[in-house]
Amino acid sequence: MTAAPVNLYDLTREQLRALLVRWGFASVHTGLLWNYLYLGLAESFDADAMPDLPPKLRARLQAEARLGALPVALATDSSDGFTRKYLLRLDDAERIETVLMRFTGRVTACISSQVGCAMGCVFCATGQMGYTRHLTPGEIVAQAVHVARQLRLPTLSSQLPTAPAAGASGAAPERLRNIVLMGMGEPLHNYDAVMHAIDIMRDEAGLALGGERITLSTVGVVPGILRLAQERRPLHLAVSLHAATQAERAALVPAARKWPLDELMAACRTYSTTTGRRIFYEWTLIDGQNDTPDHARAVGALLRDLPAQVNLIPLNPTSGYAGTPTPSAAARAFQKILADEFKLPSTVRQRRGIDIAAGCGQLAVTASA
Ligand code: SF4
Repeated sequence: MTAAPVNLYDLTREQLRALLVRWGFASVHTGLLWNYLYLGLAESFDADAMPDLPPKLRARLQAEARLGALPVALATDSSDGFTRKYLLRLDDAERIETVLMRFTGRVTACISSQVGCAMGCVFCATGQMGYTRHLTPGEIVAQAVHVARQLRLPTLSSQLPTAPAAGASGAAPERLRNIVLMGMGEPLHNYDAVMHAIDIMRDEAGLALGGERITLSTVGVVPGILRLAQERRPLHLAVSLHAATQAERAALVPAARKWPLDELMAACRTYSTTTGRRIFYEWTLIDGQNDTPDHARAVGALLRDLPAQVNLIPLNPTSGYAGTPTPSAAARAFQKILADEFKLPSTVRQRRGIDIAAGCGQLAVTASA
């Protein structure tokens, strides 16, 4: 039985070096191949994509390795042109969604870590579809590579408002600056694959998405938060809070029954103490449900003395949940209480891609897509 081809996006640079050495090639070829993979964003091992590869190495790669690129099943643009959502096809015909978001001066990719999600947050379209499987490191890395490649396409740049056409009149092509692990899935439920993928994406000789450029969002998987603290992983951590009492939180986030609020807050405290890092606490604002002045005071009290910032996210609509977003005046009032009474910094998240269901909590794969 012949072994399955190695997906090169599964390998760190050190693992790639070990593979080439095992095949009898000098480790010096590692840098060349890595450059083709992550700076050139090559799409094949052919001579036009990787011209300087030794012929024997090219032949070996063509026979025993592959680039696990994810074909696009569907691409959808938001009406303002700032967001593009990709439905990407995996080898086993499962599909995931990845979102390219353009903000002033930066491009962010929102990437998925699982097909579906087991956490079941009631307002989230991914949670509503259930869990199918974890993504491999290569499938996570391939999403970042995909977005980086799209930024090189003049067709994309020219469609985006205020974006200089890549390479036009001396303007530098846009680069992928940030990754948010806020797509489909709970990243800490797929801890090893996600951390392996982050190691690959952080590599300064490649995508160079160093620690300050990656944000991981968790619903509150306590063992994962404690492991992150212990391993002192250099990334931004966002914890989805949404409620400041155990009963209210468990009604929105079923995972809270497994990891209750007091355990979660103890883990967050350990994380911040151990790493010296501030945590972003996410609060989906649902009209009449968790957006009153009393709720603002409850979250202020809960986060007192913790290095924290609150990200307020007006609810994005999904078909499986009847709640509606907090009006902007109430969101601003909530924010004012946090600032005035608790000196707690907060932002109201810019809403992007809502019309194409690419906003927070809206990613899902339907049978018809
Ligand atoms: S909000 Fe995140 S953790 Fe919750 S169901 Fe959706 S994808 Fe899963």
